[in-house]
This record gives sequence, structure tokens and C-alpha cells, in this order.
Amino acid sequence: MSDYSTLGDVAGKRVLVRSDLNVPLDGSTITDDGRIRASVPTIRELAAAGARVVVTAHLGRPKGAPEDRYSLRPVAARLGELLGQDVAFATDTVGESAQATVAGLADGQVAVLENVRFNPGETSKDESERAAFADQLAALADAFVSDGFGVVHRKQASVYDVALRLPHAMGQLVATEIGVLRRLTEEPARPYVVVLGGSKVSDKLGVIDNLLGKADRLLIGGGMVFTFLKAQGHEVGKSLLEDDQLDVCRAYLERAQQTGVEILLPTDIVVDTAFPNGDRTPEPRVVPAGEIPADALGLDIGPDSAAAFAAALADAHTVFWNGPMGVFEVDAFAAGTRAVAEALTKIDGLSVVGGGDSAAAVRALGFDEAAFGHISTGGGASLEYLEGKTLPGIQVLED
Ligand code: ADP
Ligand code: MG
Repeated sequence: MSDYSTLGDVAGKRVLVRSDLNVPLDGSTITDDGRIRASVPTIRELAAAGARVVVTAHLGRPKGAPEDRYSLRPVAARLGELLGQDVAFATDTVGESAQATVAGLADGQVAVLENVRFNPGETSKDESERAAFADQLAALADAFVSDGFGVVHRKQASVYDVALRLPHAMGQLVATEIGVLRRLTEEPARPYVVVLGGSKVSDKLGVIDNLLGKADRLLIGGGMVFTFLKAQGHEVGKSLLEDDQLDVCRAYLERAQQTGVEILLPTDIVVDTAFPNGDRTPEPRVVPAGEIPADALGLDIGPDSAAAFAAALADAHTVFWNGPMGVFEVDAFAAGTRAVAEALTKIDGLSVVGGGDSAAAVRALGFDEAAFGHISTGGGASLEYLEGKTLPGIQVLED
């Protein structure tokens, strides 16, 4: 639970809430509203306490200027449905529309400001440009609540600089997420097993460094596999590969052996001759991990590997999973991800799913969210925390 007592009585106050509403969209249709739902408790609690709630958030990666396809308008509408109350929408972030919208709020009402990343000051590396934008954001409110867990690892105006300018507090979502991460890092119940996959290979390799000193077992699937297989001397065909990380992978494998941490790599791989797209019927084939044909690419871990991964998870008391085992969006390559998700639902202990796509995978494959200990809304933020890095958006709240 979060603690807003540092803000005093919020009734009648304008409270700026940084939420993470960065949901996947197909046109203007929200395909997974998990992050909006995760943002509701804090907004609801503040509104119920009589605050005038002003929500700021980003969507996608616009380049500091408005772009229709990244408008938060459909997200604001969905937030209104979930809250069960009207949500006002400002067509800019700090301009005339925002000022008029905020001025029009009564106690207990909620407004969403247009995509904060339509403003170059939000993500600027130039401190003064960011500061000037943070001043404008701060002018809209009397207090700040940080609840966008997916962005707390970013030193951005709406995450970091605005907290320097207003009385601030942690929202419920951020408090819950940080609590879970503490349980993963401070004396986790053992065996502690970490499963890594997905496509952001170089982003994720860094976390292994720290995990080799913490986890008992490391299971590697997804696009990361092929850099490891190549590091072991295997050919990987047209699979995802980060050539400049081969030495890093080799060093991890050696260190794991020295420290007694078990690294489990898949022994079989589901391959196809092309990356799946709408026009082509997949032709999945299972091959041994060391025999990926030159004209094929690996798109999922194979059935033997899926069974081995499930077995390696069975006795765990703490599990952290980040990154799908394969291209789960296509049924032919979803079995590995399904097997890992299934194994997590049976954990006697704490099971944590982190990462936007991993969380979406769990829901898309039809699992009950309640079967997992915690489904995190933030991939990058969780990984940086587990890497042992300081998260600027958390540090600024604690100072
Ligand atoms: P998360 O958002 O959970 O942190 P990532 O963003 O790193 O995960 O990766 C998710 C994506 O990885 C999915 O869209 C999935 O299709 C893709 N993926 C998984 N395995 C492979 C693979 N072998 N080759 C290419 N892409 C993969
Ligand atoms: Mg992702």
C-alpha cells in the first residue's frame, strides 16, 4: 500500500498522477488494457479522497511532436469505462486545452492530458529544456503522485523533474511493484529460478551478470537463445543474433559453471524458413538446437526443451520470468511460452511475470492472471532494478 499522508488532505487539491498507460493499439482499438487497469486503483483512491486528478502518461514513441496514431484519447475513454466515471481529455499536455481542462475539474473528477511525449522537453537530455517543461507540468498541480512503474527507470520530465517541484508520493502500483522486486532481491526463497526470453537481447543480457550471483537456475529461451548457441560454436541460420555479444555470452557460461549456477539452454528448437507474417502459413519444424539449417530461423523452444524448462521450474519457490520463449503471437510458435506460463501457475511460492509482451502473452494465451503471484507492468524498470541499478524515478521520491 502506498502512503499519501505526506501530501496531507488531498481534497480539493489538483494532484498530477504519472501513470503508465502505454498499451498496445491496433488503430484506435486497445488490444490489451492491462496497464490501464493497473493504473485504476491509485486514480480511484485519489478521486474518492476528493482530489482533482490530472493524469499524465505517454503512448508509443512519438518524436516530441503530436501524431494522431499516438493520441491518448482512446485510452482516456477506456479509463473512464474502468473507473465508472467521466474522464475529461485535454488535447494538449500543458497548453490552453490542458489548463482549461484542469481548471474545469470539480473535486473527485479526473482528466487525462494528451501524450506527454508530444513535447520535446519530456525526454530531452538537455536538463534546462526538461526543466522548463517540468515547470509547465508542475504549474497544473498542487501535488505529484508517481505511479507509472514502466517509466521509473527514465530520467524524464514527468517522472523525475516534476517530483523535484511538487510535494510528492508513490502511487499504489509503484509501491506494489517495488515491494515485489525487494522480495526477489532480498533473501528470495530457494530454489530461485529466472526465465529470460523475448527479443530485446542486448537489453536483457546485462541482467544476467547480477543474476549469476543471486539465482540458482537460469532458463534461457526466446530470441536470446541464438547468441548463446552461437557462442557455444553452433550455427543458427537466420535466427535473431547479436554478434557483438558472443564474448559476453561465453563469459556468462563460464562464470555460471564456476559459481554453480545452472544455465539451461533449449536442446531443440522450432524453426521455419521465414518470420511469420499474415500472408504465409507457418511451416514449423522441430530440429536439435545444434542443427538449425542455414535457411531457417528459430521461432520457439522445442517440446523437449519446454518439458525440461517446466521440470526445472517445478521445485522453485521464487520465479522471475521476463520475455516470451517464442513468437507466441502466432499459434505455431506459442507452445514454449505456454509451457513456461503453465509451470509458473503451479509454483509453490512467489511467481513474477515481468515485461509488456510477457504479461500480454499470459493474457492472450488465456491464463487467469490470479494464478500468478504478480504480473508486473514494467519490463525495463524491473530488469534495471534486478541489475542493481538505481531507478531515478524512485530515488527522487525517497530524497
Ligand atoms: P517483454 O516485453 O516481455 O520484455 P520483449 O519485448 O523482449 O519481451 O520480446 C517480446 C517479443 O519477442 C515477442 O513479440 C515475441 O514474438 C518475440 N520473440 C520471442 N522469441 C523470438 C525469436 N526466437 N525470434 C524473434 N522474436 C522472438
Ligand atoms: Mg516488449
